[in-house]
Amino acid sequence: MSKTHSDPQASFLCDQNLGRLARWLRIMGFDTEYMRTWDENALKRARTDGRILLTRRREFASDRQSIVLKHDFLKDQLRCLDKRLKLSEKLQPYSRCSICNASLKYVKAQDVKNLVPEYVSTTREAFVRCPRCLRIYWKGTHTVKMVDAMHRIFSTRAGS
Ligand SMILES: [Zn+2]
Repeated sequence: MSKTHSDPQASFLCDQNLGRLARWLRIMGFDTEYMRTWDENALKRARTDGRILLTRRREFASDRQSIVLKHDFLKDQLRCLDKRLKLSEKLQPYSRCSICNASLKYVKAQDVKNLVPEYVSTTREAFVRCPRCLRIYWKGTHTVKMVDAMHRIFSTRAGS
């Protein structure tokens, strides 16, 4: 549905054990679907769409279009992906809704005036909104911290 053709970015399907990773990949700007339960149809769709399956199931290790993540911790999982796919060179923070994976659209401050706290609408100029769940995002201390955290994760070598 939200598929963007000729998107050079890597796109993913996360299995049910990788919900946190799915959220972070979206925050980093990667097109990431998530299956709450193991779903053969979702897998088939992912193959057709060229999505990489991210899974904790070892039996998929031989499948070219999947990556088996052995690490338990989010930062190790992200580093492992960075090693293989150079994620850190393709970050587009806050271009996707972390909840529903839709591409965020720019909106003017005046259009969201009544939808965000007043101190936010008067001090920020750029807002983005999810066309699906209508959630509004803006740059603030929270987002700065998240972006810092991303860079910290990728600046440390995997396995250290
Ligand atoms: Zn959304």
